[in-house]
Amino acid sequence: DKYLSGLSRSQKSFGDRLRTLSNNFHGIDDELLEEIMILLLESDVGIHTAQKIIDRFEKEGKNIKKYDSMEDYLISILYDFYDPELDDPIRFNENGPTVILMVGVNGSGKTTTSAKLIEFFKNEGKSVAVAAADTFRAGAIDQINTWAKRLDVPCIKGKQGQDPSSVLVDACRYAKDHEIDILIADTAGRLQNKKNLMKELSKMNRVVQKEIEGAPQEVWLVLDATTGQNGIMQAQEFMEATNVSGIVLTKMDGTAKGGIVMAIRDQLELPVRFLGLGEKPEDLKEFDLNSYLIGITK
Ligand code: GDP
Repeated sequence: DKYLSGLSRSQKSFGDRLRTLSNNFHGIDDELLEEIMILLLESDVGIHTAQKIIDRFEKEGKNIKKYDSMEDYLISILYDFYDPELDDPIRFNENGPTVILMVGVNGSGKTTTSAKLIEFFKNEGKSVAVAAADTFRAGAIDQINTWAKRLDVPCIKGKQGQDPSSVLVDACRYAKDHEIDILIADTAGRLQNKKNLMKELSKMNRVVQKEIEGAPQEVWLVLDATTGQNGIMQAQEFMEATNVSGIVLTKMDGTAKGGIVMAIRDQLELPVRFLGLGEKPEDLKEFDLNSYLIGITK
């Protein structure tokens, strides 16, 4: 299945390496804990979350005698860390267009992810439009416009350098007038100056809210999975600047570090909504814990 094959790179190493521990398993001792710690760190779980996992493992796992039960037990701890209560369903607007603001630093895959989401929601039978509100990065407007044309959805755009909020106002009005179900807004990803970012994001929120009650329904932060713990720090900056409601983790096809999902849950307490598994519009998968952990272990 595409999900598993796309994820195999990020997860096989974790599962394979976990299983190689089975050969010398002789109970849970310091040596094993250290090896698991290294495995977690190299998978980008992050020291903070890894330590918590190890602590629990050490405290509660003493009596485990068989390797199989150890592996099951470790996976059950990972399950516990992935608090399912964080997985509220996506909020859709019952009375008009649902607005999804895409945020994240340049290069994280924001524009590509916007294209993937167009494809995803279209396949769900929804009408979709996209706002080219990244008026900052050279080429961003063309890039999303080209995707919109290819995927046959309207793209509301302004000029490079224009105030992104004015593009959003136009896009919201278009979405209302044309009874669009989902409006995806590709915004600029500036982090150099947090104060500016905050100002810009709060203005975007304000104008969207003014046009469509309750909007934006979702603010999704796009994170490049290959940036590991730096991605977590980036996320924290964005979370200080605006109400992030979910994460899209891109480039999962190019990393052996699937553990970042655990760090996101534990440290950011946000749902991972989607995974990016390539550069094409269909290379997007809704995140699902079971498939993810099965991918890790099998
Ligand atoms: P933006 O600056 O955040 O809008 O980033 P882009 O959408 O332009 O993406 C930056 C680069 O990452 C492009 O070359 C994309 O094709 C690539 N990219 C985005 N998502 C993925 C993904 O899930 N997997 C891979 N392998 N490449 C991706």
